[in-house]
Amino acid sequence: MEKMDVSDWFLPPQVLERIAQIKDPEHWLVENKVNTYNALPADPDGTGIECEVCRGKGMMAVITEDTAPPRMVILPCACRSRRMTALRLKRCGMLERAKTCTFESFRTDTALQKRMKELAQRWLDGAPTQWLAFCGQSGAGKTHLCTAAFVQAVARRQLAGEYMLWSPAVREIKSSLFEGGRDLLDQYAQAPLLYVDDLFKGRGDVPVPDTDLRLAFELLDYRYNRQLPTILSTERTFPQLADLDEAIAGRIRERCAGCIVSIAPGAGKNYRFRDEGEVTRGQ
Ligand SMILES: [Zn+2]
Repeated sequence: MEKMDVSDWFLPPQVLERIAQIKDPEHWLVENKVNTYNALPADPDGTGIECEVCRGKGMMAVITEDTAPPRMVILPCACRSRRMTALRLKRCGMLERAKTCTFESFRTDTALQKRMKELAQRWLDGAPTQWLAFCGQSGAGKTHLCTAAFVQAVARRQLAGEYMLWSPAVREIKSSLFEGGRDLLDQYAQAPLLYVDDLFKGRGDVPVPDTDLRLAFELLDYRYNRQLPTILSTERTFPQLADLDEAIAGRIRERCAGCIVSIAPGAGKNYRFRDEGEVTRGQ
């Protein structure tokens, strides 16, 4: 068959000129594919992370020059790990709190708060199987620090985390167990990282129901045996926890291996931020 000459076609002169400029059509084709891929915007993923390079996809196309003909390969964009972290935090409902509860924004006005912050950071740098527990009086910033530690662990270790606010979560688990489903309990028990907030919430003089103790044991024993990292906050002091259930307290103490604070009730340890951000002290 006779070879066609594009100049014979009725094409606008600027297109003919462009075609003539293409010295390497294979490269030009791949380059076009790469540019098309990179220009394609992703649907908003709710992370609020904008990226001009990948247009929110988290992946970007490049040309490999070391093959003939050159090929397009898809690589993670520089924004990808930040995006994954934000998606993981969003999934467990922690994305908004992650923005305010950081180590940087934690006020260390007292020696206790300094110690608590150091401990949370030590936990973060420690073995990935270690637990972190803040026990005792409310108002010292336990939730703030536990959240900061949780967020940093999700980001640094690229782990999927679960957040479990004890009382409502336990109510949900009980009703799902009543209907024969273990999925919710398993979801918390098996999470690569778990943050149990306000364990055994309630007045110190009101006994914890046996069913709650059994659930806590099942959950924490599972994680203890598999060395799954766990963060705990509770208004009960550690001796109160030990009084409630020695087996639970023993497992917490062993896995925390020093990363545990028990704040005894007493004056001067409580601080609250008022709406205007002023720190008030007392009681
Ligand atoms: Zn990107």
